[in-house]
Amino acid sequence: MKRWKILVVDDEPQNLRLMEIMLTPLGYDVHLAESGVMALQRIESITPDLILLDVMMPDMDGFQVLERLKNNDATRIIPIVMVTGLGDREDRLKGLEAGADDFVQKPVDATELKARVRSLLRVKAYQDLLLQGQEKLEREVARRTEQLSEALEEINRAAAAAEAANVLRGEFLANISHELRTPLNGIVGMTELVLSTDLTEEQQEYMEMVQKSADRLLDLIDKTLDFSEIETGVMALEPAPLEVSEWLDDIARMLLPKAMEKGVALNVSMDHNLPEWLIGDAVRLRQVLVNLAGNAIKFTEEGEVNIRISLESDDDGLNRLLFEIRDTGIGIPAEHQERIFDAFTQVDSSSTRRYEGIGLGLSLASRLVDMMNGRIGLESREGEGSRFWFSVPMAPK
Ligand code: ADP
Repeated sequence: MKRWKILVVDDEPQNLRLMEIMLTPLGYDVHLAESGVMALQRIESITPDLILLDVMMPDMDGFQVLERLKNNDATRIIPIVMVTGLGDREDRLKGLEAGADDFVQKPVDATELKARVRSLLRVKAYQDLLLQGQEKLEREVARRTEQLSEALEEINRAAAAAEAANVLRGEFLANISHELRTPLNGIVGMTELVLSTDLTEEQQEYMEMVQKSADRLLDLIDKTLDFSEIETGVMALEPAPLEVSEWLDDIARMLLPKAMEKGVALNVSMDHNLPEWLIGDAVRLRQVLVNLAGNAIKFTEEGEVNIRISLESDDDGLNRLLFEIRDTGIGIPAEHQERIFDAFTQVDSSSTRRYEGIGLGLSLASRLVDMMNGRIGLESREGEGSRFWFSVPMAPK
C-alpha cells in the first residue's frame, strides 16, 4: 500500500515535533519544514500528498506559500490544511479564497487532525486514481495517434510509389507501343508497295493477308495504348471546333470498303436540325463511332448497318448529340449485354475464333464516352441485330 507523504510547515520546532508525533504512528511518512521557503524546496523534492501549513510565519507566511502552490500546475492539486490561530475568521476566509482545502485550529487536537487528514487523503486517493486514468488515456491516445500517423505515412509512401510505378508503366507502354509501331508501319508501307506491283494471283492473296494481319496488329497496339492511357489517367480530351458533315463523311469513307467487302449496306445520315459546327474531340468521338460501327459491320453477314446522328433533349433541357448504330447482324444474347462494356469481354469464345478481337473495343468506347460526360448503351436480340447508341452533351460552336 502507498505510504502517504505529509509535509508539515511551521516556524515553531515544537509544533513540528508535535505534529510528527501525532501523525507518524498512523503510518504516514512525515516531512518537516521550518519556513515557507524551506517548504517550497521540500515540496519540489518530495511531492507530498498533503500539506499542513501554518499561517503565521516570519518572512513568507502561509498565504504566500499557498498562493505559490496554487499558481503552479505541478502543485495545484496537493490538498492543503491551514493551521490557524484560535478564532481567526478573517484568516479562514482568506485561506478559502486562496484555495485551502481545510483548516485546523491551534492548539491542534489530535483526533480532529487525524480525521481531517484522513478525509482529505481519501479524496486525494480518488484524485490520483482519476489522474492516473487520465494520464493512461492520454498516453494511449498519443500512442494511437502516433500509430495512425505512421500508418498514414506508410499509405502516403505506398501511394507515391504506386503513382511512380503507374507513371513508369504508362511510359513503358508508350515506349513499347512506339517501338512496335515503327517496324509495323514499315511492314504496312512495304506491303502496300508490293501490292501495287505486278503480282500473280497467289502472291496478291498472300500479300493481302499480310496487310490484314498488320492492320489488326496496329489496331490492337493502338487500343492497348489508349486503354492504358485512360487507366493511368494520362489521356486528356482535346475539344476543338469540328464540322459535323465533313467529319461524318470521313468516317463513312473509312468504313465503306469493309462493308462492301462483306456485301453489307452502309447508310449514314444526320438530322437536318443538327448544327454545322460543334465543339468536340474529333479524334476520340470518331474512335467511339468507328469502334461501334466497325463491330456492327464485323458481326453482320447480310443486311445493313445504319449510322445516324441526331439531337436529343435531356430532362434538364440540355441538348445532347445522339449517335445510333443499328445492324442486322448476329445480335447479342441478353445475358451478355450487361457485361459487354467490361474490358476483355467477348460474347463467347467460339465467336472469337470466327470474329477476331480481344474485347477491348467496347470498354474503350465506354470509357471515352465517360470522359465526355456521355452515356452509352445497347439493345439487341440474338439473331436479329443490335442497336448501339451513345450520347454526349452538346456544346455548339
Ligand atoms: P472485340 O475487340 O472483341 O471486337 P469489343 O469490345 O468491341 O471487342 O466487343 C466485345 C464483344 O461484343 C465482341 O467480341 C462481340 O462478341 C460482341 N459485340 C460487339 N458488338 C457487336 C455487334 N454489333 N453485334 C454482335 N456482337 C457484338
